[in-house]
Amino acid sequence: MSKPVFNRQLERLVTGVATQDGAGVSLVRVLTHDLQHRLDPFLMLDNFHSDKPEDYLAGFPDHPHRGFETVTYMLAGRMRHRDNAGNEGLLQAGGVQWMTAGSGLVHSELPEQEDGLMSGFQLWLNLASGDKMIAPSYRDLQADDIPQVSPQPGVKVKVIAGSAFGTAGAVQRPHTEPLYLDLQLAGGQQLDLPIPASHNAFLYVFEGELRIGEDGRSAPSGRMAILSNTADAAGVSVQAQGNSRFLLIAGRPLNEPIAQWGPFVMNTREQVEQAMRDFQDGKF
Ligand code: FE
Repeated sequence: MSKPVFNRQLERLVTGVATQDGAGVSLVRVLTHDLQHRLDPFLMLDNFHSDKPEDYLAGFPDHPHRGFETVTYMLAGRMRHRDNAGNEGLLQAGGVQWMTAGSGLVHSELPEQEDGLMSGFQLWLNLASGDKMIAPSYRDLQADDIPQVSPQPGVKVKVIAGSAFGTAGAVQRPHTEPLYLDLQLAGGQQLDLPIPASHNAFLYVFEGELRIGEDGRSAPSGRMAILSNTADAAGVSVQAQGNSRFLLIAGRPLNEPIAQWGPFVMNTREQVEQAMRDFQDGKF
């Protein structure tokens, strides 16, 4: 058997868009609407990071979702979640909330702090057409619930979803088989990072700088690097320029139509209109 080749390349570097969402939370939308097909099954990635209370205090008061999953990963700060099924949870540093909106729910996400740093990510993961109307559910995972692995000295990997280096992550999902890793590399470390060849994949660097692939193209902090879909590639080879930290997010594309209106993501316009009616009629 020939040696696996980690030859995915940096296809495109993306700078996020500064915007506001919720009741006025300042954030950077890293994965924007125009990338939904290229990065299928992922619909959105937001990065919130601020120590100015006016950037986050308004939070996300009651709002609906239908047809997909939201994955919130907290790096710093505290956020209280409540939904209309009576569920409640506190998202804290190092923790993850994996929420399946499915057929629909109404929830709020509100900061539980008046000052200090609030930092983290919210990813939207699409559901397959046959799963869009499943019962809503969510899991609150604390920092200790996220398995960690060190495949070599100077490399630490938190396995949020999927599996990496022989370690199963906290969450496994059917159909899209998402891989969601938080990786820390000491300066100079080189890592061959396995990614299923079937998956669309991207990195988001939030500390330091990475050199990606054979040509060593640079992905600095605050940039998303879309990785090429290279047939038979075992993954990507990265090298850290100084101590670096980044997310790897990858998933098997659904290749289904995407019909979105705000917090409703379905397959057809009729289904989205039905979602609006159901929400207005209080059926969530
Ligand atoms: Fe939400």
